[in-house]
This record gives sequence, C-alpha cells and structure tokens, in this order.
Amino acid sequence: MRIHFWGVRGSIPTPLSPLQIQNRIAAVVQRISPKDVESADTREKFLSSLPEWLFGTVGGNTSCVEVENESGDCVIFDAGSGLRELSQNLRQRPGHSAGGQTYHIFFSHFHWDHLQGLPFFAQAFNPKNRVIFYSDNPDLEGILEAQMSSPYFPVPMQGPGGFGAKLEFVLLDAPTRRLRLGSSEISWHRVNHPGGCTAYLLEDNGKKIIYSTDTELSRDDFLRTEENIRFFTDADMLIMDAQYTMGEALEKTGWGHSAFAVSVDFALNWGVKSLLLFHHEPTYSDKKIYSLRQSADWYCNYAGKSKLDILVAREGEDTYL
Ligand SMILES: [Zn+2]
Ligand SMILES: [Zn+2]
Repeated sequence: MRIHFWGVRGSIPTPLSPLQIQNRIAAVVQRISPKDVESADTREKFLSSLPEWLFGTVGGNTSCVEVENESGDCVIFDAGSGLRELSQNLRQRPGHSAGGQTYHIFFSHFHWDHLQGLPFFAQAFNPKNRVIFYSDNPDLEGILEAQMSSPYFPVPMQGPGGFGAKLEFVLLDAPTRRLRLGSSEISWHRVNHPGGCTAYLLEDNGKKIIYSTDTELSRDDFLRTEENIRFFTDADMLIMDAQYTMGEALEKTGWGHSAFAVSVDFALNWGVKSLLLFHHEPTYSDKKIYSLRQSADWYCNYAGKSKLDILVAREGEDTYL
C-alpha cells in the first residue's frame, strides 16, 4: 500500500508568505560557512544538516490523503485544496492521463477545507472516468452540487461544462458499517466535531490505516467498547487531528480539534504503531509544528508506554505499508 499526503493543513490553505521565504533564505545564509561550499559533496552535506522546518515545509494545502491499495485502487480521503495537486500528478501517471480510471473519494465531512479542491479535480471532467463519492450524509449529492452552483462556481457539477465522468454517490449507512473495495475493507466511525465528522479505517493485506481528521477527542474515545476496540486497536498508521497545543485546546474547547498530547495519549491507549500529526493549525509556522512533534516525543517517552513513532504529516512523500 502506498500513502501520500497532498494536503495536511486545517481550516484554510496556508501558503508561505514572501516575508517567510525571505526569512528562511536569510536564516540559511547565516548558517553557511566557507567549508560548506567547497564542493558539491559539502554543499549536499550542509543542506541535509538543515532543520526540516527550514529546508522544507509541511505544505499549505488542506486535507487530502491518497491511498493506493494492493489491488491498485485509487482511494482518496477528503477533497481539500490538496486534491488539485493530486489531480495534476495523476495527469503525469501512465494509465491515468488517457482516462478510463475509477476514483474513490471518501468525505469525512463537508467543511470547506475538506471540499474546496473538488471543482479542480480534472479527472472528474473526463467522460471516460468514473468517480465514486462516499459519505454517511444522506444529502451527499445535494451538498456537492451546492458547492459548485452559482454564485460560488462558474460551472455546475452536473450539466453543461461540469463533471463529465460517470458519477456515483454511495451512502455509507449499512448496518455493518463496512464495505469491500478491491483488496481493502473500509469501515467508518463517527467522531466528535461540530456538525459531526466521520473517521475511516482502511484494512488491506494485514495492515490498518485510520484517517481521523477533525476530531475533538473525549473520554468516550478511550473507553474499551466493542466498537472502539474493533476500530482503533493496533493500527499501523493513525492519521490524527493534532491541531493545537494543550493551552490552545483548553481555550478552544468545542471547536472540534485535539491537542497533540491528547492524540499521543489516544494512540498509546490503542496500541498504534505510527502516529501522523495531521490537520495542522494554519496560524502555526513550520518551526512550531515540528516543535510540537518534538514535544509529542518527549511526552510519549514520559508516558513511558509502548513504542510509538510520531511523525509530522507533510506534503510530498510516499509512505509504504
Ligand atoms: Zn478541517
Ligand atoms: Zn471541520
């Protein structure tokens, strides 16, 4: 299985500003010594010694995660602005540029940061493709159409100039709360967020990935109920809302997001192997986001429980499970 983050920011796209770019260049220049530029090798060594927050960025796009499962299906969690980047990448991939593909898009909920990339998903305009949308909201089709209606967007979703692909809308309301998609089994679980939000569990080839964005964890999520045990136990990868510091989470109770330390507690509680801090706060710099990861590591060591890998979800890298 291949997992790729195309958008990891919460709430609103967060491009780097000109001043931030200038400050980064200045900070790098200050670190250079003459020996760092003696040869191509020393230059490389110098660049690789720079902190991640300086020589890179988590990215500014909102939620969009691609999973290519063992049977080669393209599963997409949320259609934030990162979906546009995925769409551009798909154009370059063999087999996708000509059309004739199926794309599976699962929505956690319909706040703008999870939906705003959809009108820019070029593959949905190709009549040779098939796009299947999934949600537990019975008004799925109406909600997607409304977002692309006048005056919000120049062409309607369905109609002249709109999506030409074969569209399907799947309501996730089966009593078993699971479905089969190629080699994967996908199930879902409601989480605490204003207006509600849905977390997804994708199981494939003996591996478990959980996508739980926009989640304000509460005591109930730690209880060993049959449903919680089935859904959360022993995930190989947990992509989890970790938007706030502890202080900010206390100020923003009821806003629907979690503090990173609570997400660490949650991952430890359920024996997760790898925690991906996700839905980064738009007002936080890269430096602050990486400092949260460092604090999360310290906290995890202090809690002294099972080994847990803690990573910052960032745009641009493939992860294989
Ligand atoms: Zn969100
Ligand atoms: Zn939300």
